[in-house]
Amino acid sequence: MFVGHFAAGLAAKPLAPRVPLPVLLAAPQVLDIVWPILVGAGIERASVEPGHLPATPLVLEHMPWSHSLLTSAGWALLSAIAYFAWRRDRRGAIVVALLVVSHWVLDWVTHEPDLALYPGGTEYGLGLWHSLPGTIALELALFAAGVWLYTRATTATGRWGRAGWYALVGFLLVGYLAALFGKPPPTIDAVVVTAFVLIALIIAWAWAVDRQRPPRAAAGGGDHDPT
Ligand SMILES: [Zn+2]
Repeated sequence: MFVGHFAAGLAAKPLAPRVPLPVLLAAPQVLDIVWPILVGAGIERASVEPGHLPATPLVLEHMPWSHSLLTSAGWALLSAIAYFAWRRDRRGAIVVALLVVSHWVLDWVTHEPDLALYPGGTEYGLGLWHSLPGTIALELALFAAGVWLYTRATTATGRWGRAGWYALVGFLLVGYLAALFGKPPPTIDAVVVTAFVLIALIIAWAWAVDRQRPPRAAAGGGDHDPT
């Protein structure tokens, strides 16, 4: 799952208006930010096998630390503490924690049984990736709903907030379709490097958008937010 994870973050904006867009996009991907680090370090294992499943060439052999439910809860707690230390936003911190764990739930729907409840435990996964149309339908429906909710909950105050936002949506969609229909990455190292570059780019882009897309309620000047 790719844009489906971002959808969860976007959909959370009305619940936690103070959480900036880059945090909303990064929180549901924390597990997939930890994952390439652990794969790169040789602690977790994955490989590329073109045609492995209709919706992914990735074989996720061993990922107990980034992707078990128990360790997800640990990453969620760490993320929430870091966010709260930075923003002093309790509601936002709770939403960040829920978004981190949402990754496991959405991966459970799409992955083959490769997700444990705790490191070393039995692995689960409903395997939606066996169906390409099913995967695309679910992810695009989630993403459309997320984009709609985020757009409604915020308002553009400049070019980055308007054109920059829709360009980011387009970029994520094109990236998603390219990953599905493009040539599979040559090696798992290529996947790891691409993941880092993409995450850095998306977060930087989202910062620029966020500065010109405040929450709707705050746009009228009624919100006394010291930050
Ligand atoms: Zn994942």
